[in-house]
Amino acid sequence: MFDAQPLESFRKSGEIVARLRKEVPSIAKPGVPAIKICEELEQKMRDHGGKPAFPVNVGINEVAAHYTSPPGDALTIPGGCLAKIDFGVQIDGYVTDTSVTVCFEPKFQPLVQASDEALANAIRAFRPGVKLSEIGRVIQSSIQKFGLRPISNLTGHKIERFTIHAGKSVPNVSGLNGAKIEEGEIYAIEPFVTLSNAAGVVVNGSSAYIYRFVKPKGPTFDESKKVLEYIQANFSTLPFASRWLGGAFERETVKKALIDLIKHKCVSSYPVLVEQTSSPVAQSEHTVLVERDNSTILTGP
Ligand code: MN
Ligand code: MN
Repeated sequence: MFDAQPLESFRKSGEIVARLRKEVPSIAKPGVPAIKICEELEQKMRDHGGKPAFPVNVGINEVAAHYTSPPGDALTIPGGCLAKIDFGVQIDGYVTDTSVTVCFEPKFQPLVQASDEALANAIRAFRPGVKLSEIGRVIQSSIQKFGLRPISNLTGHKIERFTIHAGKSVPNVSGLNGAKIEEGEIYAIEPFVTLSNAAGVVVNGSSAYIYRFVKPKGPTFDESKKVLEYIQANFSTLPFASRWLGGAFERETVKKALIDLIKHKCVSSYPVLVEQTSSPVAQSEHTVLVERDNSTILTGP
């Protein structure tokens, strides 16, 4: 049923992620610069024989997703916050994806408990033949039992080689999704939880720090062409951060080139996603392999 080689790579990728998950609480603490968290985790992935599947995300409070440190970032983890550390490893394009929420404010602790429990219940229900809408219902009802609210417009996702969002989505609320889970598929499941009086949706923030390669032709400036060639050679399939271009180019060159490349639609960017009513958001995420009668967590015990 399963190809041995891809599965071996997914498992190895998941083992690295599982190991790093345990280190997150000692790395992500109040007073620590966000850029240090990103770079330390990304370096540890390489030390263990993997590569970052996408830039490490550090989401503080209402920032739900897609924040990674730009070069020279001054952001540090504040006291009394909730921070989502979302990261993934790839081995030959086989990606596993996870998120750990660290909480430094006792009154936000129930949000973390709710997202952890919703994830555990979703994984228990995750097996071949089950509709993805049923998983959304399980997640929503688990979160509502805590008197809290799921984020309705963020979802988990099927994973394929070099593709983090491979078509099928895992909703965090009940609704109409006729697609069914199939044996042999790999999914990231990721409930997001906010307060009951929040909007329960994310909107685009004003900045974007994560990018993806789109096409190789368009820019007219020589510097932009060089940066684009480098991006295509190194990050043609998975997302990247401008930090990752710093070894090859001056910071100003990267900044100007990215503006030019976005204008010419050679590169696109992912805006930071923020809860609409600025309410705190917790997130729990694991990647699972769907087996004959159940699912196995690849990114944890
Ligand atoms: Mn993730
Ligand atoms: Mn994910």
